[in-house]
Formats: sequence, C-alpha cells, structure tokens
Amino acid sequence: MFNKRTRIKDLLTQEPKGQEVTVMGWVRTFRNNQFIALNDGSTNNNLQVVVALGKLEDDSLKRITTSSSLKITGNVVPSLGKGQKVDLNATSIDILGDCDAEKYPLQPKKHSLEFLREIAHLRFRTNTFGSVFRIRHALAFAVHKFFNDKGFLYLHTPIITGSDAEGAGEMFRVTTLPIDKPPKNDDGTINFQKDFFGKPTNLTVSGQLEGELAATAFGEIYTFGPTFRAENSNTPRHLAEFWMIEPEMAFYDLEDNMNLAEEFIKYIIRHVMENNLEDLDFLAQRLTDEEKQMPQDKRSEIGLIEKLEFVLNNNFERITYTDAIEILRESNHNKKKKFQFPITGWGMDLQSEHERYLVEKHFKKPVILSNYPKEIKAFYMRQNDDGKTVAAMDILAPGIGEIVGGSQREERQAKLEQRMKEMHIPIEEMWWYLDTRRYGTVPHAGFGLGFERMVQFVTGMSNIRDVIAFPRTPGNAEF
Ligand code: ATP
Ligand code: MN
Repeated sequence: MFNKRTRIKDLLTQEPKGQEVTVMGWVRTFRNNQFIALNDGSTNNNLQVVVALGKLEDDSLKRITTSSSLKITGNVVPSLGKGQKVDLNATSIDILGDCDAEKYPLQPKKHSLEFLREIAHLRFRTNTFGSVFRIRHALAFAVHKFFNDKGFLYLHTPIITGSDAEGAGEMFRVTTLPIDKPPKNDDGTINFQKDFFGKPTNLTVSGQLEGELAATAFGEIYTFGPTFRAENSNTPRHLAEFWMIEPEMAFYDLEDNMNLAEEFIKYIIRHVMENNLEDLDFLAQRLTDEEKQMPQDKRSEIGLIEKLEFVLNNNFERITYTDAIEILRESNHNKKKKFQFPITGWGMDLQSEHERYLVEKHFKKPVILSNYPKEIKAFYMRQNDDGKTVAAMDILAPGIGEIVGGSQREERQAKLEQRMKEMHIPIEEMWWYLDTRRYGTVPHAGFGLGFERMVQFVTGMSNIRDVIAFPRTPGNAEF
C-alpha cells in the first residue's frame, strides 16, 4: 500500500515520542541542505523535516526544491526550533516529483492576488488560498449539516432549464444547433424544434421555482448548486457561474423566512469559528497587513474575527424598504450629494452604494430590508395588503452588500396570475408552476444565499474571484 500517510495537521498535535510516521507533501522551503518545510494542504503550518547532514547524496539534495513533492518517513521528536512542537527526523526521503525552481511560477515570496488569479491552477499551494478553500469547504459542509439537522430535504434542481420566467438575469443559451447555420423557420427566426430539446433552453439562474414544487410536498427543502448569469457586471461581487443555496419552506411567512435566514447565517459562521480558527486567524492577519497599505478611512474598524463575533452576538437590524429610503434621504451623505446615484425617493431600486451606506455607516451591522415596492421585485413575491409592496426581504452584509434575496411567495392563484399578466410572464408555459397553487396551495417562503458572497464575508477576501476555484467572469473562462 502506497498511501499510508499521516496528515501534517494531525502530526503537529501529536506528542513527540520518537514514533515513526510517513508524510507526503510539497516542499515550501529548504534551508541549509538540512531543514525542509513540508506542506500537505491539511493546514498552513508546515512540518519541519530535519535531514541529517550526509544522509542524502548531493544529487538528491539538489532535487529538493520549492514545490517538489516528497514522501518522507521519519521519527517524531520535540522540535529544536521555535514556534512548533515537533520536528520529523527523516530516515528516508523519496522524491515523488521534481519541480524546476527556475520555471516554477510561485516563488516563496508575496505575490499579488491579481497575479495569482492568472495561475489559479497553482494558487491552492499558497497560504492564503489554502485557508480560503478550507474555509469554503467547511462552510459548504455546515450548510448541509444545518439543513439536514433541521429535517430539510436536499433537492437537486436542473442545470438546464426550458423556462426563462425567473428573469433574475440574462441567461446562457444551451444549444446543439450549428451557430453558423442554424435551421430557420419560414419567417427567418431560428427553428428550435430542431434543437436538442425541441425548444430553447438555458443554464439555470435559480432553482427556486422547482424548489417550490418540492416544498409543497416535502414541507422544507433546500438546493445547493451552481447557477449561471450572463450579466456583464464586472464587479468584485459578481460571477457568471456561482453557487447558490436556496431553501424553500411550506407553512412559512416572511418573518419565519427572516428568522431562518438569520439563524442559518449565524450557524455556518459559528461552525467555521469553531473548526477553522487557525485559517481565520491567518486571514485576519492577512487583512490587517493588507489594510496597512490603505488610507486610514478605508480600513476596517474591527478585525475579521471581531466582525464575525459581532455578527454572531447581535440581532440583524430589520427595517422596511420605506424606512430605509427615509434614512437614506435624511442622511448627510445624501444631503452633501455624495451618492453617485441620488436618492430620488420611494420606488427607486437601491444601488449597492445605498445598501453599503445602510450597513456600514448607519447601522454598522447586517440589515434585513423588507417589503419592497412590487415594481422592482419578481412576479412570484406575495403582494401585501397595501397594494404597493411585496413580502420580499434582502439581507445586506457589511463589505458585501446583498448576500440574501428572498420572499414569501404568492400562494393565491388569482393574485399570482394577475401579477404575471402585468409583468408579461407567459402563463401557459408556467402551467406546472401554477399547478401548485391549484392543488392544495399553502403559504410558503424561501430565499437564495450567494455562496461565494458568504465565503467572501467570512474570509474577508475583497474580490469574489478569489473565493471560487476557477472564476468565470466576462471574458474569462481559463482552466
Ligand atoms: P445583485 O443585485 O447583487 O446582482 P441579485 O438581486 O441579482 O443580486 P438574486 O437574484 O436575489 O440577486 O440572487 C440571490 C443571491 O445570489 C444574491 O443575494 C447574491 O448573494 C447572489 N448573487 C446574485 N448574483 C450573483 C452573481 N452574479 N455572482 C455571485 N453571486 C450572486
Ligand atoms: Mn444581479
């Protein structure tokens, strides 16, 4: 058996009693032909391997370069160096893979995040991305644990969809028709009957509509999968391919929905605080160092860990859209005309600068905004009695802006159809969706949490491209 290895993370907590172990990993540094700092991705902390002088031939020593891969057997002994408990005294070293130091793009020095994006296939081997992706994993695990423990059913909704009714964003067409010579109808339009599915299809922008179908049978479900938006927004918060978590619950109203969302966000943050403190500490320090380069007023007022603790220990602020407009209108920021998009009044869509003002300057904590004007929200949101607003809720987070978008859904068939007509949603095509309202309709609600925005919030990474392995953005689908 080849792979009988000890993970470095586990090894570093063992009592050093001379026990024999085998480790495998990649060299971070090799000093004085004697000290190998070995990393295997289980932690940012390297294992110090001590190679006795004269133990290896010169030829072999030369091959121990940064990022060469090694299999090392040795004895665990108390460390002579500072900052670690154990060393490994090597008894045998196999070089599994060489790494040409001249050509290897990741030198043991600080690289910019922009540069690392160009070598995204190698950036996992840095401390920053080691921490980010271990935390991303932990968050994903916590998502499943949270819902599973609550009795929610994990539903896989389709990636390819024939409905474009959600209207959440522009969609990517899925087709097998030849793009240079597509079959045409008599009137010159493309004949999609000849396409693979016999109709136009796209990559999904959301699993919500299908989620509602399952929630009206299982009670509580959630989805966790990739979604796609062909929106040309080159921002630090938008990807063309991102992962979304969408719980959908029968017998929930808007308040139940907000309560669940807040509990959920706190739960997954707590999970990471309890299980990934080492990585969080590393990223917190990284952020502090990075912010030292910035002018004082651009720096965070509190560190990453304090921010997360603060979120855990405080209720999210809950206010209506109407109140938010008032706060923004009355703000000095507005009076001094500092918003790029002025506050024109009730009915306007909030821009991210407005959302960020509310969370970062005014409340200084996450905010749940509810009851938006129906004109700026989707057709399926439940209409409030005032005739003007819908039972929508968005959660805004400091540094990120919108992290959750959700609503109580319109369960009354007549109201729903009337709204669909007004918004030119094809009612006949949506027969399957409307069936849930025909056959035993129930009050229900749900929300969507952008997973990468959550990872951004927890890791403090300012660009969404740095929290997904291989980002898809306008003009970029490398790797
Ligand atoms: P935004 O206004 O920020 O573009 P949205 O209103 O389009 O967001 P929703 O359609 O409500 O967002 O999607 C639900 C959640 O998915 C959002 O709250 C956000 O966390 C996330 N999200 C939306 N678009 C993207 C994107 N392009 N990249 C990454 N996450 C996204
Ligand atoms: Mn959007």
